Amino acid sequence: MTRLTRADLDALPVYVPGRNVADLARELGIAEAIKLASNEVPFGPLPGVAEAVAAAVTQSHRYPDMGVVQLRDRLADRYGVSPDRIVTGCGSVALAEHLAKATCLPGDEIVYSWRSFEAYPIISAGVGATSVRVPNTAGHGHDLPAMADAITDRTRLVIVCNPNNPTGTSVRRAELDRFLDTVPDDVLVVLDEAYREFVTDDTIPDGLEAYGDRPNVVVLRTMSKAWGLAGLRIGFLVAQPDVAVAIRKVLTPFSTSLVAQAAALAALDAEDEVRRRCGLVIAERERVTEALRKLLPDVPSSQSNFVWLPLGDQAAAFGAACESRGVIVRPFQGDGVRVTIGTPEENDAFLAAAETAL
Ligand code: PMP
Repeated sequence: MTRLTRADLDALPVYVPGRNVADLARELGIAEAIKLASNEVPFGPLPGVAEAVAAAVTQSHRYPDMGVVQLRDRLADRYGVSPDRIVTGCGSVALAEHLAKATCLPGDEIVYSWRSFEAYPIISAGVGATSVRVPNTAGHGHDLPAMADAITDRTRLVIVCNPNNPTGTSVRRAELDRFLDTVPDDVLVVLDEAYREFVTDDTIPDGLEAYGDRPNVVVLRTMSKAWGLAGLRIGFLVAQPDVAVAIRKVLTPFSTSLVAQAAALAALDAEDEVRRRCGLVIAERERVTEALRKLLPDVPSSQSNFVWLPLGDQAAAFGAACESRGVIVRPFQGDGVRVTIGTPEENDAFLAAAETAL
């Protein structure tokens, strides 16, 4: 058969989303299954978001503002940076893709820790770059000195996921300072801070506050997690203006939808409620971690809205055991299982499943 697509894509894994809850409930013959697999928050839309979306939809026959002016101004104000440094996109995963496009030619290298966010290898392969995966430390975190050593003259991009998905571990200010000082000026460092709002340990730097002025640092944030907009697809990044201009050149036109822009503005108006909700997630994270450690002492401390069970080769079996009890988690066979923090009732159901599975 004539090949129409790139041969190197044959080896690329597809992105696997969390299993569908309705499918599992049907399969088990139960009223409702519980999904703790995609790091969503369990609360529903923030106050004002549904109304803002409904109002935006009345203009659905028009293209959205491609400059995203109102939202960028608002984010600039909120985060204390100038609007020309902000780029929004269809989820932060799309922005990560645009960053790779804006920095890498085929054969260039992207360095990241592994295991980390499963989109990184897909994004790298998408632009024909080589993924340089630096194994996590024994404590499941980034090995920043080894990442620094992995940088070559082909490296264009380094991704630091802080806190790290799926292990929930974080790098501290002193080690990140040291690392950033060793990265060459012509290598862009992306601080992927998708879970920043759940961080409680103040030795973990806020990338925007700590490194926002460094010319080769880009901070990536999402509104999918703490801000509860996963389904509307909105993320943003903060870069130096020249880097932001280059990224805008490779954006898919109009990819921050009308509805996403309206929803993000409404969500930003509800920040007090976001903080309250994050507080609930954080309290549950600590409770779940403590309960799990009685079953599995090696559960690392998490600074995100999920916990990591380093189960190695038992990961798939544990995931299947939870599913058979109506709870969907995210196993990474050979490494561990990631479990999102849900409502107290959902977490109790998971803990009961874990107790029988472990
Ligand atoms: N970065 C990290 C570390 C993530 O875990 C995720 C979502 N799983 C994303 C980026 C992408 O989020 P979104 O595209 O929904 O903004």
